[in-house]
Amino acid sequence: MGKNSKLNIDETFYNENGNLKRLSSDFYYKKFIFDDYKFRKENGLFIIYAKIDYGTDLQTFSTEIESKTPELLISMLKLRDSLPKEIFESPTKILLCDEILNDDTANKIIKWCKSNGFPFAVDNILKNSTSKIKSKKIFNTIVPDKYISFKLSDFIFQINEIYSAFYMYRIINGYADKIDFPIYTKNSLKNTFGKNSFVNLKELRKNECTELFEYKYQNIKYENKISLIGEPHFIINAKNLFDAAFYQLALLLYNKEKEIRICALCHEYFEPKDPRQKYCDSLDCYPQKAYKRRKALEKKQKKSSQTNKV
Ligand SMILES: [Zn+2]
Repeated sequence: MGKNSKLNIDETFYNENGNLKRLSSDFYYKKFIFDDYKFRKENGLFIIYAKIDYGTDLQTFSTEIESKTPELLISMLKLRDSLPKEIFESPTKILLCDEILNDDTANKIIKWCKSNGFPFAVDNILKNSTSKIKSKKIFNTIVPDKYISFKLSDFIFQINEIYSAFYMYRIINGYADKIDFPIYTKNSLKNTFGKNSFVNLKELRKNECTELFEYKYQNIKYENKISLIGEPHFIINAKNLFDAAFYQLALLLYNKEKEIRICALCHEYFEPKDPRQKYCDSLDCYPQKAYKRRKALEKKQKKSSQTNKV
């Protein structure tokens, strides 16, 4: 009996490798959709904001998204690629990007937010703005407007951080062929924002990259709880869209069979179905590959027929 119960406990808590078993997990993030984003320039800073009717519960704007694909990560990478290259040319430009930003860039980011959601944590903003509104209300019977907003430069910084995390992932996994442009990323956890607190990924070796990756992202926290619906499992939640995208990247790091590649022809991001796949599945690129293969084959056949003649 004693021996048996020892065995059962082992089976319950440990897997065949002797490691503690883990509950499986589902990953969720909240998508806050606002339709009437606008931007303004305030003291030289671009601010993106949306007006909400006072009294409207912000939660009514949100949808719980179960993340099953790295869609958010890819949309952020694409957005960063579509922004003016100049913004990311140097740490100083990233930090003082408001000088370079223009209305086009602001509108592009607004468009992104409309389809992907408000990028920062809404709960915090909500707490701050309601406390302000309460104190105002004592003196003012007119119902104040409620706004949620973010600084465009904060968004640019965060999107660049996700972009560099993706390139670090590529370097760590040996996927990066060659980065032929600079990618600056913050290399300190402190809130010092000098240009010396940035490092260029182009100059890092793989082991330095692994170290930096580990160090940089140690402070991201996720909320998790155990759900007893169906099999007991974890439900993990991200606080904002950047953390959600980082989680999607961490899943890629964990699950080595999954990978995001950059098409050698059109430079789009894609998930290969085959480890040798170099081109995306689009009709413009995949046939190119087939064409090249056919040409190579023809050449080979020509050669062999020529040698046969001789
Ligand atoms: Zn392609």
